[in-house]
Amino acid sequence: SGYHRVLEENRKLYNQVQDLKGSIRVYCRVRPFLSERSSYVSTVEHIEDGNITIGTPSKYGKGCKSFTFNKVFGQSLTQAEVFSDMQPLIRSVLDGYNVCIFAYGQTGSGKTYTMVGPKDLTEENQGVNYRALGDLFVLAERRKDTFRYDVAVQMIEIYNEQVRDLLVIDGSNKRYPFVHLILFLTSSQTGLNVPDASLMPVSSTSDVIDLMNLGQRNRAVGATALNDRSSRSHSCLTVHVQGKDLTSGTILRGCMHLVDLAGSERVNKSEVTGDRLKEAQHINKSLSALGDVIASLAQKNTHVPYRNSKLTQLLQDSLGGQAKTLMFVHISPELDALAETISTLKFAERVATVELGAAQVNK
Ligand code: ADP
Repeated sequence: SGYHRVLEENRKLYNQVQDLKGSIRVYCRVRPFLSERSSYVSTVEHIEDGNITIGTPSKYGKGCKSFTFNKVFGQSLTQAEVFSDMQPLIRSVLDGYNVCIFAYGQTGSGKTYTMVGPKDLTEENQGVNYRALGDLFVLAERRKDTFRYDVAVQMIEIYNEQVRDLLVIDGSNKRYPFVHLILFLTSSQTGLNVPDASLMPVSSTSDVIDLMNLGQRNRAVGATALNDRSSRSHSCLTVHVQGKDLTSGTILRGCMHLVDLAGSERVNKSEVTGDRLKEAQHINKSLSALGDVIASLAQKNTHVPYRNSKLTQLLQDSLGGQAKTLMFVHISPELDALAETISTLKFAERVATVELGAAQVNK
């Protein structure tokens, strides 16, 4: 019957959510080839369940290496299919959990595609950011007889160790006035580092689309001389949810960071100068700070060096055990990306060993 189906669905969701506790989950996604050339040889030899095998074509010297993650998504999977595996995690924000999803990989491997979507955005190819918020609204609506939810978002960029608010009035540093209407947020309440940036209430998918467009425009403003700023800065969409239980009056607060990291490739410092060198140093610094934090968590060190970069400060609570954390690693299938692919997968494997305490509900 319908009732039993609902019960069964709830039970499944509950188990999936339980399953998310305990360690950083790692999903791996392989980008498809970008044009149809039959001469392309993929470095991905085999994908099965959570395993991926990377091989080098024999004429380059044979060899292969396998890696194991929680999930591996092959190149033919759609945005909807990828998202459906993340749904329980995202839904747990409404139950008062903190969630952090970050996209890692070399430039061009599909991080922005996963989180935002391609340039010609349609409903079908929208990425995680849009789907996550859409899903939250649908679920909040379904619970409206028992809970009242308020949702607000922030969008920031970390570029050269500077945090920039992206939800400001077009092209300026001015905030929108209704920021002050939101009373519900302090970092002690959410248990997550809340960036000092405009906080905008949203109540529908179209609000979200408007704000994401504003954020993208503001992001482009700083780009001036640089052709592709986005690959050299980290961007983060933070979603805050407050739910009031209409019978007991209990308040639940959940928070979610959706982070699109700068390209992980190591820039050869001898080949660049000036601004490009400075950027490279900052990216290397923040991503290696992330690596250091993860290594230190994996070794269960008492001191974890979060303060070494803006990025690790922002993610501190997500990596330290209060939150449910998912790292989405991206790889390109091309042979010339092989070295980066291997180093990305090795980093990801290290992340997968980090154990976190059970995530806690904010009340
Ligand atoms: P990154 O953010 O890692 O630099 P992008 O997301 O910009 O990479 O992806 C590089 C290019 O590949 C873009 O043109 C993007 O639209 C395309 N692309 C990436 N992933 C996919 C995918 N799963 N399916 C189709 N096209 C993709």
